[in-house]
Amino acid sequence: MLHSALSKPAPFAIVKAMNKGRFYIFTWGCQMNEHKSEGMAGVLTEAGYQPAHDLAQADIVLFNTCMVREKPVDKLYSEAGKIAMLKEENARLLLGVGGCVAQALKERLFRKSPGIDFVFGSSNISELPQLIERARRERALGRPGWVMAVDKIPDRLEELPYLHSSRFQAKVTITEGCSNFCSFCIVPYTTGLLRSRPPGDILSEVSALAEKNYLEVQLLGQNVDSYGKDLQNPEINFAHLLRALTEIPISRIRFTSSHPQDITDDVIAVMGEENNICEHLHIAVQSGSNRVLEDMRRGYTKERFLELVRSLKEHVPGVNITTDIIVGFPTETEADFQETIDLVKKARFGGAFIFKYSPRPGTIAFYKHRDTVPSEEKQRRLEILLELQKQITHEENCRRIGEIAEVLVEGPARQEEFFMGKTRDHKTVVFSATEDLVGELVSLRVTDASVAGLMGEVISRPHSLPLPCRERVTVRV
Ligand code: SF4
Repeated sequence: MLHSALSKPAPFAIVKAMNKGRFYIFTWGCQMNEHKSEGMAGVLTEAGYQPAHDLAQADIVLFNTCMVREKPVDKLYSEAGKIAMLKEENARLLLGVGGCVAQALKERLFRKSPGIDFVFGSSNISELPQLIERARRERALGRPGWVMAVDKIPDRLEELPYLHSSRFQAKVTITEGCSNFCSFCIVPYTTGLLRSRPPGDILSEVSALAEKNYLEVQLLGQNVDSYGKDLQNPEINFAHLLRALTEIPISRIRFTSSHPQDITDDVIAVMGEENNICEHLHIAVQSGSNRVLEDMRRGYTKERFLELVRSLKEHVPGVNITTDIIVGFPTETEADFQETIDLVKKARFGGAFIFKYSPRPGTIAFYKHRDTVPSEEKQRRLEILLELQKQITHEENCRRIGEIAEVLVEGPARQEEFFMGKTRDHKTVVFSATEDLVGELVSLRVTDASVAGLMGEVISRPHSLPLPCRERVTVRV
């Protein structure tokens, strides 16, 4: 869970003269959810609310929830209990719950957790100010709770006035929802089918960010490679969108997440050719067993995935490939698990998020297979794979020692008096610097490495990177 930067007032936030109260947002889950929280913050600041520095200052607490794994749902109830205790000292405090859990559980949330004042769906973020007012009125009348707006997911994306939590990095949603229906995944049920934003809207948003001197844009979607499939125009696809975006003077363009079934040779070519597309690809493999991949409905084989890795490494020099893996998917045998180990050894990922399978009611796997691998066995497989990936990550990081890397300085590191930033291929680097370098691109020599990342020393101060010159590409809207 993130007590995201949105919990703190962004230095560039437009603070309205009118102050209707202070809000504090807890975010669970992926970067798409973090961006949704920026949308919530934008809606509330436009309506006259202000971000709170910390929980103690807040009049309104929002939980932006995720349902991909089981633990965040349990965590939601325990955190709601803590907020209920705070209400005893602060009678004004309201708790609202949104995100995937709200979309799926709706009024059941009130029954499970009486401390919740209002619930809002994934498509009801723009109604937050009205919901807060209704919840306040109900409270004043002595009828707290049970204020709810959860609509069906609409055909179009909800456009929100995002309040970016950084002055130099911004997230831009290009798709929402997913039509793939992998057997273990709840996303299509809680966020709906694939909806792609029109390319013109995305280009306008990124151009506006470039005019405000943003250095890095991260394009977001559950499966960015499926971009455009729902727009019924064969000329609009993710590779075209990327090429069009590289015309905009932004130093770094990133994207997440990619899908092995949908990524095309064209996307790989754009990554290799264009200077401002970063050399990082997060592409979830989930398993190395073809039988398990079929049961997961992933649409590729281990061999196809390894071919993809080979092609990426050939066409995108220095690419850092990271992944997601699930261990203990129902019916996964020791032989299946060994196939995953073999794939991890061959692919040599720069990093991996490895999870134990957690059954999600409503998904195909839940009804078809239930949860057949005992939890101790899942834990054993998790530990073996984590250890292997740690070793590979460490080795890959050590190979970087002595390299000169371009780093975007993001802010203070956890280690006191040090700063941290990210290389183009998304490695974290810790180094000695001064506050004025935050938000700048610097050149840095890598001096040491660990599993967690790289250490380095700045060798040259901010510079403007030459923007790539290339043929103009037109995306028809
Ligand atoms: S591609 Fe599969 S795992 Fe990813 S969001 Fe879609 S259904 Fe879920």
